[in-house]
Amino acid sequence: MADYQVVVIGAGPAGYVAAIRCAQLGMKTACVEKWIGKDGKNALGGTCLNVGCIPSKALLDSSHHYYHLQKHAAEHGISASNVNIDVSTMLKRKDEIVQKLTGGVAGLFRKNKIDRLEGTAKLLGGQQVEITDVDGKTKTITADNIIIATGSVPARIPVAVVDNEYIVDSTGALEFSEVPKRLGVIGAGAIGLELGSVWGRLGSDVTILEALPDFLAPVDRKIAAAAMKEFTKQGLKISVGAKVSNAVVENGEVKLTYEDSKGSQTITVDKLIVAVGRKPNTEGLNAAEIGVKIDERGFIQVDANRQTAVPNVYAVGDVIGGPMLAHKGSEEAIMVAERLAGQKTEMHYDIMPWVIYTWPEVAWVGRTEEELKKAGVEYKVGQFPFMASGRAMAHGDTSGMIRMIADAKTDRILGVHIFGISASELLGEAVLAMEFDGSSEDLARTIHGHPTLSEGMHEAALAVDGRMIHA
Ligand code: FAD
Ligand code: NAD
Repeated sequence: MADYQVVVIGAGPAGYVAAIRCAQLGMKTACVEKWIGKDGKNALGGTCLNVGCIPSKALLDSSHHYYHLQKHAAEHGISASNVNIDVSTMLKRKDEIVQKLTGGVAGLFRKNKIDRLEGTAKLLGGQQVEITDVDGKTKTITADNIIIATGSVPARIPVAVVDNEYIVDSTGALEFSEVPKRLGVIGAGAIGLELGSVWGRLGSDVTILEALPDFLAPVDRKIAAAAMKEFTKQGLKISVGAKVSNAVVENGEVKLTYEDSKGSQTITVDKLIVAVGRKPNTEGLNAAEIGVKIDERGFIQVDANRQTAVPNVYAVGDVIGGPMLAHKGSEEAIMVAERLAGQKTEMHYDIMPWVIYTWPEVAWVGRTEEELKKAGVEYKVGQFPFMASGRAMAHGDTSGMIRMIADAKTDRILGVHIFGISASELLGEAVLAMEFDGSSEDLARTIHGHPTLSEGMHEAALAVDGRMIHA
């Protein structure tokens, strides 16, 4: 008999959720994690809790308070002079939130009687996993099933080598001890925009260089255009079609050379963030050696059950590709755990919520007009501007809009795209409506509380059929 029914490798949002769900379903479960936290101790939670979703949102909230006091408090009759930011207190608050949440996962492991194994896991084949602890001691355990959830790490580019002092990745960008006067960012994706916003709000002069010709290429074009206008108004200098050819550190500054439509440009910054995506992490796992198939980009290949080429070895989360999102990994984890228990769980990748936590937020689910046009699908669009929302006006945040796209024949909602205050929370209604195969008429007939931002969703649904009331 194996030591465990399930061993999960990695305790990020994919791995720890897999472990909890397996344990809930009565399987004897262990989870191996190698992460060493800032306190020098082994930490659960993976990228998301330690250096990703959570710390970035903590800094976004802190910097938003600062920015709001500086720029908007006066509109409310609040005079706030001498507003200062103590970066070390802001970082300490972030670290405390991380500590609480990673400690919370440890508590959930105890509650669910999951064996927490500290160290680096290596697949030995034959359902054996070798674990090496920080002192280099090894032990081997056996499992009926193995779930790989080893996540991802920042992608690197040769033209801007991360030195963790002047040129940093997303992890370094969460730790600047003071606000850089001039900040360069390579990549205008989720990380570039979120962390660029954090330091921009605190006073950095931020330049973001994006290689693609379009800003936020996967996003609805009208939403991307509105976001570009707003972020530019906030002071972010975003350059698209910008190809960085060189970044060198000289006399404590970073000299960046890039080409764009205007030709060769050079800027000098105090810090540079490289935020050009993430790559799957299978280093030291010995996966390929035991027969797990890995594609040319390094992602583990899986079948519909998320089983790798090796029977009883599964993989979930960032390491298998698709959207590199915490909630995607967690849902995959639940699916694998439940399928191991004989259930027929499925998940709908086409109804995936996406959020970029700028101010205001960009959030979307489903297909864009551009995708539908390409696919030859006839559709109708309803658009509601937050300018016409009483609640948004009361908040003092009226930029942006909700765009709802429905099938021209069936009225089924095909996509909802939001740029505006609380877009991340508003999106939940759209995701649920789509999970239920809802139509715009369903949302148009649903009573929404007044005054709420969610009335905007109601109005966008009415707008699909040309009967919006308030705009
Ligand atoms: P990870 O979270 O990367 O966890 C993998 C774990 O496996 C790690 O703890 C690692 O130490 C461990 N591990 C790896 N190899 C081994 C081994 N051999 N032995 C033992 N342990 C091992 N996503 C969102 O949905 N929303 C957000 O707001 C968001 N913000 C982000 C902000 C930033 C700055 C970053 C960097 C990412 C953000 N993401 C966000 C992405 C999100 O963090 C990832 O999609 C998510 O963490 C992936 O989960 P995972 O469990 O697959 O992998
Ligand atoms: P991303 O893929 O979102 O964006 C990277 C951007 O960098 C792209 O726009 C790409 O075109 C650009 N780029 C790539 N190479 C470049 C180069 N050489 N020069 C200039 N631009 C270049 O990746 P990210 O922002 O690094 O985030 C990594 C992952 O983490 C993503 O998969 C993202 O989904 C996830 N994440 C999610 C959130 C969120 O959900 N709010 C927040 C942060 C990160």
